[in-house]
Amino acid sequence: MLVTVYGAGYVGLVQAAVLADAGHRVVCADVDASKIEQLKLGYVSIYEPGLTELVAVNAEAGRLTFTANIQRAVEHGALHFIAVGTPQLDDGSADVSYVLSVATTIAQHVEHDAILVVKSTVPVGTCDQVAARVHEVLASRDRTDLKCPVAFNPEFLKEGAAIADCQRPDRIVIGTEDADVEQRLRELYAPFNRNREKLMVMDRRSAELTKYAANCMLATKISFINEIANLADILGADVEQVRRGIGADPRIGYQFIYPGLGYGGSCFPKDVRALIRIAQDAAFDPMILRAVDARNTRQRTSLVGKIKARFGADLSGRKFALWGLAFKPNTDDMREAPARAIMEELWAAGARVSAFDPKAMDECRRIYGTRPDLELCSSPIHALDGADALVVATEWKAFQGVPLETLRDRLANRVIFDGRNIFDPQIAAANGLEVIGMGRARREVVAEDRPVRAEA
Ligand code: NAD
Repeated sequence: MLVTVYGAGYVGLVQAAVLADAGHRVVCADVDASKIEQLKLGYVSIYEPGLTELVAVNAEAGRLTFTANIQRAVEHGALHFIAVGTPQLDDGSADVSYVLSVATTIAQHVEHDAILVVKSTVPVGTCDQVAARVHEVLASRDRTDLKCPVAFNPEFLKEGAAIADCQRPDRIVIGTEDADVEQRLRELYAPFNRNREKLMVMDRRSAELTKYAANCMLATKISFINEIANLADILGADVEQVRRGIGADPRIGYQFIYPGLGYGGSCFPKDVRALIRIAQDAAFDPMILRAVDARNTRQRTSLVGKIKARFGADLSGRKFALWGLAFKPNTDDMREAPARAIMEELWAAGARVSAFDPKAMDECRRIYGTRPDLELCSSPIHALDGADALVVATEWKAFQGVPLETLRDRLANRVIFDGRNIFDPQIAAANGLEVIGMGRARREVVAEDRPVRAEA
């Protein structure tokens, strides 16, 4: 099928490459001309495992092309996927102006029947707005003879596993009440719908709410376990044991109940806030969502509270090694990454940071430039040199392979602030290291001269 994808970001580029790989002829369009130029040269600016290779194979086969000429992109597709950003506005709501702008452009230039498929995460009712805008523009061109229905097809991919998620989705949600649209999308997704029926067809508003509800449910699990972790710190329990104890119940499950520094990235924080806004605009108080967001905001810097409790509020003259900059492993995405909040608080308290991340070093350089209180190091071990303590912000697997003796020998104060609980406090203690983790203040490993603290 002939497909145009608007937006060459995490969602658009992955969707374009995966659809091309399934045999469709895909044009991927973006207003960022330099991004398109790089893609034409085979350079993918985001880190997503397997993406560069998938783009290269399909570009070479002629199934995937890139353009910054949006009008030409409109001419190509029978199906138009809108996968542009919906960033957070100051009041917490999602900015749908890019989505509306793409829809307007399509309606201005389309000369054949076409289906618009919104993939961006959008507030309930946005597809109605898109349909109204398309109709208005077609009417202004006197082209209401063209059929341009609008469907919603949310994306559930996880950064770091985006290609696998797109190629083997758990479900394909389609918001449409138009049988022809459903049929065309069935044909498009047939290669991904072979082993069982994955298509869930529903009305557009329910589909729009499904996407927010999915992210908010996952965010709720994370904030819930973080709340329990903070309580465990105060009560002298080990949240890792509590996690295993509750995860064994299949109604709860082990996924998404890892205590840590809270969720980040481009989706959960903004989507939780957008749904809060959507609810409040409908005169409904989203009590659970407000608590999820508040817990997460506090969680990000909770480790800095522990650092200050150990070293004092004034951290001038101190240096901290920081392992992990991306908001989670297997990505270079630092949008709303806890590491950013931690670094910024450490700097504000006068400390210097020596940081390492396997993939996000360029992104960190792009965000913060060069500054005297940030050293970007070539390895996790190099980051330890001259540091008072280690702070773990992202649970990259490679970090767990660094020998404890190396940490003990290089860290001036032999302390690890483990924001992701990758170190076992007892094994570390046996190797001469103190680990201050998240919800792991079991009484026997709490230093005797340091009473268990209440949450700041
Ligand atoms: P992104 O910021 O990585 O990419 C968006 C792209 O759209 C940019 O390259 C931008 O230049 C381009 N763009 C903006 N206006 C345009 C226009 N008028 N025409 C063509 N291109 C335009 O965003 P993303 O992370 O891919 O997210 C896109 C949407 O998908 C958002 O609504 C997001 O909430 C949702 N989503 C994201 C993820 C994720 O993991 N990143 C997962 C599921 C859903």
